[in-house]
Amino acid sequence: MMKDERGGMEGGRRPMRDQTDYVEQKDMQQFLIETLTALIKFPTFVPPGEHYGEIVDWLISMLTGFGFVCERIDIPQEIVNVRLKDADLHGVRANLIATKAYAARESVDLYTHLDVVPAGEGWSTPPFEPVIKDGKIFGRGVADPKGNVAALLTALHIMEVQELESRYSLRVVLTTDEELGLYSGLCYFADEGLLQGDYMLCMDTDNEGICVATNGVLNWEMVIHGRSSHSSTPFLGVNAVEQAALVVHELQALKGEIERRESAVPCSPEITDLTGQQHIKPVFNVTMINGGVKENLIPPSCRIRGDRRYIPEESADSVVEEFKDAVATIKADHGIDLNLTPKPGFPPMFTDPSHDWVRRVQAAASAAFGVPKGINGVQGGLDVGYAVQRSQQPVCSFGVWRCTESNIHGPDENVRISDLTNYVKFLLRLLTRQKET
Ligand SMILES: [Zn+2]
Repeated sequence: MMKDERGGMEGGRRPMRDQTDYVEQKDMQQFLIETLTALIKFPTFVPPGEHYGEIVDWLISMLTGFGFVCERIDIPQEIVNVRLKDADLHGVRANLIATKAYAARESVDLYTHLDVVPAGEGWSTPPFEPVIKDGKIFGRGVADPKGNVAALLTALHIMEVQELESRYSLRVVLTTDEELGLYSGLCYFADEGLLQGDYMLCMDTDNEGICVATNGVLNWEMVIHGRSSHSSTPFLGVNAVEQAALVVHELQALKGEIERRESAVPCSPEITDLTGQQHIKPVFNVTMINGGVKENLIPPSCRIRGDRRYIPEESADSVVEEFKDAVATIKADHGIDLNLTPKPGFPPMFTDPSHDWVRRVQAAASAAFGVPKGINGVQGGLDVGYAVQRSQQPVCSFGVWRCTESNIHGPDENVRISDLTNYVKFLLRLLTRQKET
């Protein structure tokens, strides 16, 4: 339900007005939607991750208008060459840090990324031309991550025009290549010591709870070596595709063992409703298989790739050891010639749920959304895990989308306009002192 321009709820009693209701004014709603639309129109999908320079320059002009000191930071090419060497990238990796000092004792880094995943197939609307339907906005990145950026810009705009006093000095951190899972702009900022807020708010999450934990990420690749021959004389060759099928089958035992574990960190109530699962779990998936040359040729090699997510209680080293041991057994049992390459990604993230920063975020989110928000973990991985391992900042994540509804990374990605609106209210509650009205 929309509220009228004075902030009154149609046809019902409403609580005392506060500054956060200002976002419901028509011009602010328009600013929110137009800002999100403009952000989506920069096709910053990765790979290749082009157009970062353009979106950052656009953001700089807006944030400068809000009184921020902005710095565009392009990752040096020699670092890109080393840290992102296997990725199919084009264009400069342009990142943004924008700071505004207030008369505040503490500071906060407000972070999300600027890249999106490619559109993929199955869309009913053009992915980079946002469409509004049934109270939602559809487009690639409307939820993950650009809805967060639009809500943040709207909150900063409201702070400016309403002259709201901030509780913190603000540091806006908008960075590249999170979706690659390799080395993001945020990782670079962490390595360069640019993350200096007393706290960090990561906006790259759903709005179902305050996230204090994420899984660590380990991608992997396996090449099965066979021997080529004419397919009418298979006894002269070794069929790498058929051997790969056997390997995939045998890996199910490891998958079962891994997925029987669970973390002490609870998962969101929505995930519990959907799966019955109470806590976050580790995951093991085979996700890609490539092999073969031609129908009548015994395939000489086959490549399998996959994804292992590990809970904060597991270590990266133990995860790799366990995987190598399982693969060594499969090789020995079946006489298969294969090479395994583990590709460690972001480590897990974990902040003590009783930390004061987590409690402040929880209180602001619960008040803004009008429902109590719990504290939980997610099974995805975030570059924040890498960043705070270096910066040692207390961090928690809270974002705009709904994990079972917004279809992030899929076709028809969407976000409720009411969630964007409540998210602006959340930011205003968290960051500003409320004036009496
Ligand atoms: Zn994201």
